[in-house]
Amino acid sequence: MRRHPRTTVIACIACTAVLALTAGLGGCAADESVTVSREALGTVVTITAYGDDEAQVTAAIDGAFAAIAAVEAGLDAYDPGSAVSAFNQTPYEERDLPADALAVLDAVGRLGVGDAFSPALFGVVGQYSFDSSGTVPDAARLAWAVEAAASFQRVGDGGRFAEETLSIPACDVESYPGLDFGGAAKGLALDRAREALRESGGVAAAIITAGSTTVTLGTKPDGGVWRIGVEDPRDTGRVVAVFALEGEGALSTSGDYQRYFEADGVRYHHILDPASGAPAYGLRSLTVAGTSLSGLDSDILSTALFVRGETDALRYASAHGCALYLVDGEGRARIAPAPDGSGVTVAEEAAPRR
Ligand code: AMP
Ligand code: MG
Repeated sequence: MRRHPRTTVIACIACTAVLALTAGLGGCAADESVTVSREALGTVVTITAYGDDEAQVTAAIDGAFAAIAAVEAGLDAYDPGSAVSAFNQTPYEERDLPADALAVLDAVGRLGVGDAFSPALFGVVGQYSFDSSGTVPDAARLAWAVEAAASFQRVGDGGRFAEETLSIPACDVESYPGLDFGGAAKGLALDRAREALRESGGVAAAIITAGSTTVTLGTKPDGGVWRIGVEDPRDTGRVVAVFALEGEGALSTSGDYQRYFEADGVRYHHILDPASGAPAYGLRSLTVAGTSLSGLDSDILSTALFVRGETDALRYASAHGCALYLVDGEGRARIAPAPDGSGVTVAEEAAPRR
């Protein structure tokens, strides 16, 4: 996966994991917890798992990290050996996608956000060179790349893709489409890690965080709630809101501060509107959480609702029973609580920096 700027990663982790772990270690009744952090998914992943037998819990955590690595090996578009890279290297050759890719595509369809979440933006994202100095794309080349992405259609039951617009000049390499699951892979990987912990039999409860996405397994053994902090998009060391999950659930944040550069006073960030290829403007960050969401769902939704903007995001959250916390373009915070009894609450800790 692409690496986020180091400072941002550390800040992300500080916000999510510190709160989670403080709450986690605060006196579990019967079970002990084991916490392990490792580099994965372009960030640091931390797993805190509870169980009676420390050796069993530690082995289960190893299994969870192996599950994360398996997802990464399939979906990392920046690893030349991944299944998705093989696809991207010859995008016009019809071939089956790996099952993990199909899981993402199915979830995008089920959540109804295909207008705002596109897994085919590899060529569009690449035009911005976010991981080097940053480049403002040439408008014509960006338009080609957007069209190439839009022409990438899923066809048939086999999950095959076909390119409909065959007029893209073969010499214009940058306008080739390509798959980029960076907006969803973390969530899927954390779901697989959670299942590995559950199936191990030795873990009663756990919280797994990869900074911008967190999933929980079971109910906290001390009877409390899982607490997950959200950082200030303009002061990433500060917690501005805290979500509380009563049991199993997921939370994801998308923001304009995670990968970006500035040129001529404009912030070019990494969450792009598939319709135009331009960064989606209107919000600084959006966090979505729910006890009925998988990590994959929440990861897709935070990206998609960030693209759709405040009004649509609030409407979607209220129709689907999830909780939202967002910071708008002027630094104003807005909370959309989940319905009573849904097991998720969100409270503002501090006003975001303007
Ligand atoms: P996230 O941090 O989960 O919101 O994911 C952002 C990443 O997903 C970006 O760095 C891109 O690789 C990719 N991406 C950007 N815009 C979109 C979009 N509209 N739909 C799907 N993936 C996107
Ligand atoms: Mg996402």
